[in-house]
Amino acid sequence: MGKTIIVSNRLPVKLTSDGDNYQLTPSEGGLATALNSIFTSGENLWIGWPGMELPDNARPEITEKLRNLSLKPIYLSQDEINLFYEGFSNEILWPVFHYASSYARYKEEYWESYRQVNQKFCDAILEVAEPEDTIWIHDYQLLLLPDMVRRQLPQSTIGFFQHIPFPSYEVFRLIPWRDQLLEGMIGSDLIGFHTFEDARHFISSCNHILPVQNSANVITVNNRQVTVEVFPLGVDFDRFNQLVQSPDVIKKASELKHTFNDAHIILTIDRLDYSKGIVQRLQAFDLFLELHPEYAEKINLYMIVVPSRDNVQQYRDLKNEIDQLVGNINAKRRTMQWHPIQYFYQSFDIETLSALYSTADVCLVTPMRDGMNLVSKEYVASRVNNTGVLILSEMAGASKELVDAIIVNPNNIGEVSRAIEQAITMTEDEQMRRMEQMRGVTSKFNVKHWVKIFFEKLTEVKANQASML
Ligand code: UDP
Repeated sequence: MGKTIIVSNRLPVKLTSDGDNYQLTPSEGGLATALNSIFTSGENLWIGWPGMELPDNARPEITEKLRNLSLKPIYLSQDEINLFYEGFSNEILWPVFHYASSYARYKEEYWESYRQVNQKFCDAILEVAEPEDTIWIHDYQLLLLPDMVRRQLPQSTIGFFQHIPFPSYEVFRLIPWRDQLLEGMIGSDLIGFHTFEDARHFISSCNHILPVQNSANVITVNNRQVTVEVFPLGVDFDRFNQLVQSPDVIKKASELKHTFNDAHIILTIDRLDYSKGIVQRLQAFDLFLELHPEYAEKINLYMIVVPSRDNVQQYRDLKNEIDQLVGNINAKRRTMQWHPIQYFYQSFDIETLSALYSTADVCLVTPMRDGMNLVSKEYVASRVNNTGVLILSEMAGASKELVDAIIVNPNNIGEVSRAIEQAITMTEDEQMRRMEQMRGVTSKFNVKHWVKIFFEKLTEVKANQASML
């Protein structure tokens, strides 16, 4: 048995600088926590970018500090950050894979950098990998990497997981470099997606674009078999379940409740992104208030937007649109004692999020498109007394599992407005019936389970390949 190497664009650390002093804090994200016991054991390690440009003279010290955490850094120049990360990954793959292809800018220089940086990751893997190692590559920034590694280490075990949607062939085919992207991915032994539809779209794109054959979920390429499977990502259920019961969070939650004077609290939490449907959601809330003036002073939309990429014009425009809409709705509908939307453009620590999850009567999650959406699952994991209502977009991967949510089409403003009414008038019995089901699913298919079944499948796929030789 060889070692395991996890590879993702970002390392699971937060690197901050104060002049020449650099601070490293391990990331608390669910995935990082779930993989912690894996990459920190034995010779295993995690390879990725520490998340900021570092001057040459700071690198040896950071590399050493990271080594002690079983992490191996890839350093990116500002040009690479602009072209590979902001460019190809976030201005081509992100919009096209989220069905927003009109935002895509197909620039040749982005592609050149994407190839070159994927090669850089490959070179870093080859510095440490042995032929019998298992390599688990994550996400859309590294689509070319599986094939690059396969060519150098043909016997290695390579898993790939895509955390964002995979679009229909008719959308995917728009990308000028579609063949190369698929060829890159099928260097893997196992390719994982969040939903059955993502997997189906991927297989269909391979059939249309590449000279490959498939039988059900197995693609055969040059006598090598690539298995495509569905592994819906989960959250750290126990952590959220326990956190809401901790004294600090209980105190925070009761302060919040007090502020709102028993009014209904509807919570929304998203990163600033056009895929999240924030504008349409505000329109739906405005429509609800229009149709139900009796709820004035009796309902609050608590809206957290986490800053993201606001150096990019598209995102700045979106932020301005949201700011204006919130301002207009509050100005139009407020009373002396109340304004309907509490809007925060900032991020919060996990304790505050937990207090919000436990206080909110309704969690409103309406992305236009989302690979999974973890906020919806974190809300469910935080509802220890089984009350609360989740309104969930049918375009989020999570809607395939959380079928007891009120499922809506986020483009249908009238439907979302009616869902808000249904949520705040739902009997406690019905809330509990739905929430219990959703908690069962979220608890069972938690993030540790996700890691476990991915590795089990990867081992099985490799063993099957060996038995067929
Ligand atoms: N989150 C956070 N701080 C905040 C708001 C959100 O750490 O102030 C976390 C949240 O708990 C969740 C993640 O950000 O785990 C968002 O994940 P999701 O899948 O919903 O959306 P993504 O941003 O990955 O598209």
